Amino acid sequence: MSKIHNVGIIGGGVSGVVIALQLAKYGIDNIVFEQEPSVVNGPPFCHLHAGGNLYPDISDEQCRILMKQSIEMARLFPQSIDERPTFISIPKTEKYEVDTIESRLEMLVSYYKELINEDPANQILGTPEEYYKLYNKADLITLTERPTVKRPNTADEWMTNAIKLIDYNQLKTPVILVQEYGWNLFRLAAQAQLALNKSEHCNLKTNTYVIDIKDVRKKNLDYNWEICTKDKVYKVKYLVNSSGFKTGKFDESLHLNSERLIEFKAAYVSKWQPIPGLIPELIFHGKRGTPHGMAQLTPYCDEYYQIHGMTEDITLFENGLVQSKGNAVQPEFNKSITQKLHRDWKTDEIKSRTENAIDFVGKFIPSFKSATVGGPPMYGAQQISGHDPSLRVGEVRFPSKSYARSEIIKASSALTVANQILNKIQEEGIIIAIPNKSNQNELLDSISKHEIDVLAAKLAIERGYPGALSKLVIKKD
Ligand SMILES: Cc1cc2nc3c(=O)[nH]c(=O)nc-3n(C[C@H](O)[C@H](O)[C@H](O)COP(=O)(O)OP(=O)(O)OC[C@H]3O[C@@H](n4cnc5c(N)ncnc54)[C@H](O)[C@@H]3O)c2cc1C
Repeated sequence: MSKIHNVGIIGGGVSGVVIALQLAKYGIDNIVFEQEPSVVNGPPFCHLHAGGNLYPDISDEQCRILMKQSIEMARLFPQSIDERPTFISIPKTEKYEVDTIESRLEMLVSYYKELINEDPANQILGTPEEYYKLYNKADLITLTERPTVKRPNTADEWMTNAIKLIDYNQLKTPVILVQEYGWNLFRLAAQAQLALNKSEHCNLKTNTYVIDIKDVRKKNLDYNWEICTKDKVYKVKYLVNSSGFKTGKFDESLHLNSERLIEFKAAYVSKWQPIPGLIPELIFHGKRGTPHGMAQLTPYCDEYYQIHGMTEDITLFENGLVQSKGNAVQPEFNKSITQKLHRDWKTDEIKSRTENAIDFVGKFIPSFKSATVGGPPMYGAQQISGHDPSLRVGEVRFPSKSYARSEIIKASSALTVANQILNKIQEEGIIIAIPNKSNQNELLDSISKHEIDVLAAKLAIERGYPGALSKLVIKKD
């Protein structure tokens, strides 16, 4: 008789792998199906949203959740966190007021203090007093007189390097420096894949597409689901659907009437000239979807920079956001977007969209106009459950017995979802109760920095990107 697995996980994105790692840590046998050759190969991520400061319109509650979940994920995958701050500004053309952001930042400092009181190891964003700093126009004038620092250490040094490049007369003041860090997806993918391959409790099946699932819950067998791939049928007691923007496909086959939006977006890889000192990530806020949408410049190693521009000719796409309709709970993209999702981008479009992105950033950083295309775009589609496209926190749902659907919107929600699923499978009696749960994962801790460096570079190159994108700007031991 073929083996019965406790948990079957469809999708080895950040959500699926973190669930598998949490299960494996407690010795719970699981099997992960990922259609791609390596894990965490779906939509990209580059920013650890530790406070939600890229989203002036979301609720304070979502900001607090993003901060807490980001800290938890940064503690789990420290080798993927790039500890450089983020510069936040509002151009004078925009309606947003700096005061709104300022009062939220004070709320976040208090909340960060609470998290540190709960567990001092949560202090991964510096001291609460250093969480953010405001700079008025006079401060900026003073800083421009200071020398550039090759490897900044203080907020003032980071701001000095940034402000010398930025045309700050276009910005409202104060501008802000906040401790929201970079997040390297290639390093997270490498560490997760190495740890799962090492675990005797996880069977990681890459290059394995799940064609169908069969619900056998009413047949009184020792298992509840059959997971069908091209070559084989796998038996599992508990099913986790973490297939990202495709979760609706499996809901449909179970006749579950869930609603979701799916959105296709892309960020662009550019190469600039060497500059004398490191800079923070740079954010110029603006209303999403208008020609003044937010601009985001993310620094990587060796003069590579990733750019998001929240306009339709850069990151967003015409018909890039679609919703489920009637019984069709899995929304579908049109042909042009589907082709892009399958890596079928026209060379001209890569060039024109990357150049649009460079010009967009060049409005605020005039010298950046000399940047050129540095690699293929980083793109993908994600799901947002319900109807509200501005939602930034999604977790998990249990729409039916022995079935969980991960609905994360930001990568930082992955550990919360994994722990919610762990609780549920105990509740359903699939496994015996686990005493003393913790977030630390010895499997991940057993992977060395060297192993991560080597595999992360290999993954970046295999996926067509410069190897430099797998390195941290702020080196760690
Ligand atoms: C342009 C862009 C920028 C982003 N930036 C950030 C950021 O800076 N910070 C942040 O926190 N978040 C960011 N996000 C969101 C982040 O990418 C998602 O939250 C995250 O990737 C979702 O993870 P997931 O595991 O739920 O889904 P996915 O990563 O989509 O994983 C699902 C996996 O399931 C696999 N799969 C699907 N169907 C099948 C099948 N039938 N058989 C086998 N395998 C299957 C897919 O191949 C995929 O690997 C960004 C998203 C985009 C599009």
